[in-house]
Amino acid sequence: MTEKLILLGSTGSIGKQALDIARKEKIEITALAAGKNVELMEAQVREFKPEFAVMNDINAANELKISIADTKTKVLCGTDGICEVAQGKGDTVLNAIVGIAGLKPTMSAISAKKTLALANKESLVTGGELVKKALKVSGSMMLPVDSEHSAIFQSLQGVREGDVSRILLTASGGPFFGKRKDELKNVTAVDALKHPNWDMGAKITIDSATLMNKGLEVIEAVHLFDVPVEKIDVIIQRESIIHSGVELIDGAMIVQMGVPDMKLPIQYALSYPARLPLSDHLDLIGLSKLTFYKPDTDTFRCLDICIDAIKRGGLKPTAANGANEKAVELFLNGEISFLQIADLVEAAVNNQKDCHSFTLDDVFMADKMAREFVVSQI
Ligand code: NDP
Repeated sequence: MTEKLILLGSTGSIGKQALDIARKEKIEITALAAGKNVELMEAQVREFKPEFAVMNDINAANELKISIADTKTKVLCGTDGICEVAQGKGDTVLNAIVGIAGLKPTMSAISAKKTLALANKESLVTGGELVKKALKVSGSMMLPVDSEHSAIFQSLQGVREGDVSRILLTASGGPFFGKRKDELKNVTAVDALKHPNWDMGAKITIDSATLMNKGLEVIEAVHLFDVPVEKIDVIIQRESIIHSGVELIDGAMIVQMGVPDMKLPIQYALSYPARLPLSDHLDLIGLSKLTFYKPDTDTFRCLDICIDAIKRGGLKPTAANGANEKAVELFLNGEISFLQIADLVEAAVNNQKDCHSFTLDDVFMADKMAREFVVSQI
């Protein structure tokens, strides 16, 4: 059970829910880190009294320094500051930063032998091979926070490695489920941000609408569970009640079900292997039915683009992620259309040169080039 927590991305959707759990379970917060939301960070510092608070943005860090000058919390700044606290006092690092900005803190936490509770899927998508190598060297434990991967992880408890035949990765289908391409031509960010089942940050909500999120999760699962991509089945589970699972060689399916709420996977990563009470339980009779569909990959092309990227390997997944981060930003700003996101991600993957081995610097270079490529195409 986590006793002292270093929380990265504390002002976001996962970060705030992690603090609800910390409050409930009286987990000590030793450090908080975020991007630029000074107002919320100040409130979090006053409540949880961490030794360190880090803002990635320098102006935000300066503002925070002034606003919490009456407290004992020390303020740090930038990626270096975040990486420093990821190695500081605390047994677990929960990385809930959004995007590739989470990769360096992930590597820092692992090299300091922390238990890593990982929500930041982009760490594994962009630097999966490097993260796995670092885990082997340090011997630290990585626990998934992403609900699907947590569900797979929970389903695997007590299962022998060779007994798994397939990974079952479920998807809600997002707000545009059932729509055809011509119906998606003019959808806006406001439409795409209306997720039917989950309340999440803006970037992952758009990724859910394009099915890019499922593509990123396929890549994440390949790295987390050491399975070939061919053994991962993506299934639309419209109600988001089955959060994912595994099929075994004798045909048994073990899945994790529950209400669509991130509190359980966040809490399980902090309490593992123990279980702690939560109040929201599933009412199966009230639910009455579960519906399943095959994903429509002709309309929602990002899923197959990611599967293709991980098959081709090297820095192709990094390019897919970088291009998507930039394209989502442009879509949210109203600068490109919804359907352009997939076109840009696909073109960036094809533009990325093949390579077999790479360093952390290569990952960041590939990310930068993918973003620049996207901008050059519009
Ligand atoms: P949010 O957008 O809600 O929050 C992101 C957090 O990251 C904020 O605290 C933000 O700070 C911080 N941040 C942004 N950029 C930087 C940066 N450059 N350096 C440091 N901190 C930064 O995202 P979510 O909570 O929705 O998602 C976080 C991660 O968890 C993502 O990788 C997502 O894919 C994953 N995830 C999320 C789920 C969810 O339900 N939300 C479910 C499963 C996975 P600030 O706001 O102060 O700028």
